Amino acid sequence: MSLTLNVDGPRWREHLRRTAAAHPGLVPVVKGNGYGFTLGRLARRTQWLAEQDLGHEPDAGTCDTLAVGMYDELEEVVQRFDGSVVVLTPWRPFGSALEATADDSLADRLVHTVGRLEDLEDLLARRPRARFVLERLTSMQRHGLSARELWAVGEALRAHPGARLEGVAMHFPLAQGSHTSEASRLLTDVVGAQLPPGPRSHTVWVSHLSDTELSGLRARWPDFTFRSRMGTGLWLGDRGSLSVTSTVLDVHPLERGDVFGYRGRTAPKSGHLLVVTGGTAHGVGLEAPTGDLGLRGRAATLARGGLDAVGFVRSPFSIDGKQRLFAEPPHMQASMLFVPTGARVPAVGDVVDVRVRYTATAFDRIVVS
Ligand SMILES: *Cc1c(COP(=O)(O)O)cnc(C)c1O
Repeated sequence: MSLTLNVDGPRWREHLRRTAAAHPGLVPVVKGNGYGFTLGRLARRTQWLAEQDLGHEPDAGTCDTLAVGMYDELEEVVQRFDGSVVVLTPWRPFGSALEATADDSLADRLVHTVGRLEDLEDLLARRPRARFVLERLTSMQRHGLSARELWAVGEALRAHPGARLEGVAMHFPLAQGSHTSEASRLLTDVVGAQLPPGPRSHTVWVSHLSDTELSGLRARWPDFTFRSRMGTGLWLGDRGSLSVTSTVLDVHPLERGDVFGYRGRTAPKSGHLLVVTGGTAHGVGLEAPTGDLGLRGRAATLARGGLDAVGFVRSPFSIDGKQRLFAEPPHMQASMLFVPTGARVPAVGDVVDVRVRYTATAFDRIVVS
């Protein structure tokens, strides 16, 4: 009945172990829809990873910390994982950040990300022993301190000897091309800022660096410890261990000219109407028809009499390996597909494959073997 994420458990867990083993200091990112798995499940899985013997030095800290995206996500993870939790969205003096800052039960586990001098002063005034990382602005231009602001922070921190600096964070864009020279330039700024020495003041929390970039930086900056924050490559890095299926809920034969659907469309050809699980509430949406959308392409499609020419749009559902067309836009929890005459018609209760974006899909069930 459900839109189901099927996980080949042994294969997925092996991939997680292998990825963690290959990245000493790894910080799993657990945010949003939990990459399709839910936040709670990934928090428990991070706990499991932290307990694995990965062959690292104990002080590598692999999986001793997980990263959530927002303060609002803390409650989903803090009961299921007992290590430190870093919040990737920078601390601000309002909203859920303040509520979390005021929570004594989290005080020693929570690591804030600080991206403005005034926020650092404010945070330390509220909680002088708060743990925090300083975010350095990268070419992403999203959040963080410029080189000059980092200097000012270094200055300010010398007046707060009790402050618990956990390192510097850098979030690089996903773009192709090396980040090594940018990272090196930013690290030069970090050295220049003369941050007060402490157990973690030489920790650099990075995102989206390749293994080659990381090993290059480690060789070039041996005094620093680099920790990778990773979501997609960890949880979704072995797509072959994952599959998504939907259930056929109903099947109706359709003659050319028959009327169907919310919009009372008429069938352009004979075939079958298939009602399957999965709609807008799950994140199933219309896809842009792929291929040549130019005038010539459209003319060619019309000449072939293709169904897309009469307004049917490709769906993410496929039957026997063939992607099927939506008969009309997806409904809230179900979709209507058109199966032309000649193709095999699945029966009610059969499952069909669905291609989804895992980070944007709400599954009804997750089945881990
Ligand atoms: C989301 C996020 C990540 C994880 O990104 P993936 O592409 O899923 O690995 C890492 N760092 C920051 C700052 C993020 O916001």
